[in-house]
Amino acid sequence: MQPLYSHPSGRHFLQIPGPTNVPDRVLRAIDHATIDHRGPEFGELGKTVLAGMKKVFKTDGDVIIYPSSGTGAWEAALVNTLSPGDKVLMAETGHFATLWKKMAERLGLQVEFQDGDWRHGADPEQIGRRLAADPGHEIKAVCVVHNETATGVVSNVPAVRKAIDAAGHPALLMVDTISSLGSLDYRHDEWGVDVTVSGSQKGMMLPPGLSFNAVSAKALKAADTARLPRSYWDWKEMLAINPRGYFPYTPATNLLYGLREALDMLFTEGLDNVFARHQRHGEATRRAVRAWGLEILCARPEEYSPALTAVMMPDGHSADALRKTVLDHFNMSLGQGLSKLSDRVFRIGHLGDFNDLTLCATLSGVEMGLKKAGVPHRAGGVQAAMDYLAETSRPCPAQAT
Ligand SMILES: *Cc1c(COP(=O)(O)O)cnc(C)c1O
Repeated sequence: MQPLYSHPSGRHFLQIPGPTNVPDRVLRAIDHATIDHRGPEFGELGKTVLAGMKKVFKTDGDVIIYPSSGTGAWEAALVNTLSPGDKVLMAETGHFATLWKKMAERLGLQVEFQDGDWRHGADPEQIGRRLAADPGHEIKAVCVVHNETATGVVSNVPAVRKAIDAAGHPALLMVDTISSLGSLDYRHDEWGVDVTVSGSQKGMMLPPGLSFNAVSAKALKAADTARLPRSYWDWKEMLAINPRGYFPYTPATNLLYGLREALDMLFTEGLDNVFARHQRHGEATRRAVRAWGLEILCARPEEYSPALTAVMMPDGHSADALRKTVLDHFNMSLGQGLSKLSDRVFRIGHLGDFNDLTLCATLSGVEMGLKKAGVPHRAGGVQAAMDYLAETSRPCPAQAT
């Protein structure tokens, strides 16, 4: 089959911030006969991937795996824990936070949306103040996107937890880690998160099609009394059968083969090494952007995303025209600006299966594109990134074959 964006030779560079490039090892793992999902072999697979996901979420509690896009796991988090008319507090960090908010409204929840400028993370102080002004505990949940994929801004989840605790408020804390899990340090238990939402196709290095909830004991208790209608997304049916490695309906068996392989890759590299690798590639990318004389969308250095960088276009220049030039000439896809950032920014994904030379090639494609598209910039971004990478590089571990 011809790929959609095909050049005569070489690989397409999929440098959008998800879906990300799927490693050959994962593709090969998926390419096996589908087995009986009620047979003994499947039970072992199910137990292995559920245990592995607990390690990635850093939780001793329950993890649920759905055959769905990340959006399904958003819905699961809400419908399992909340009742019609419940108040939830959400932070407007960008496009994905806005989509989650719209979903909550459609489900019949009352959303208070804390305004944001799409250049900052959720504001823990503002969340704390709002909760302190809710002595009747009408707010049932606080929902935050950890890594806002539309902007390249990371919210400080532990600080949000602290603000909730300082206000002495019992609201559940729900966090979207769809583009951070497996790329950024994340600790479901230690950070006191009640429901963590994630997906397969970004830091987890899989194709789209799996999503996850990690669930605290408090969230499970909320599920006992929550009255939003749910059937497909019901945690209880999953949890009744998951301990034996099985699912209440047909799981995405082949994606689970891929998940087992991706987990093995993450654990072999070591999660801390994976996080450090993403930090380093984020820093190298930002050095390139600054050398070009372009502006990073994320306003505060302590909130820079290690997974992607959103770059602002100079006034009067089109991000989409630049992206088209890069695709047409260099066979690379960059992320587009979403909703109100449309045509104003482009996004460089540097997450997932990624190394120094992948980054150098990616940044070369951007720099050549800037030149070809006539975008005002200074040359030397790739050089700045290479200098930093060379200065900070370490010997690669032996490649698994
Ligand atoms: C990609 C993404 C989503 C949406 O996930 P889908 O798999 O497209 O449903 C939600 N939130 C964040 C932060 C994302 O990056």
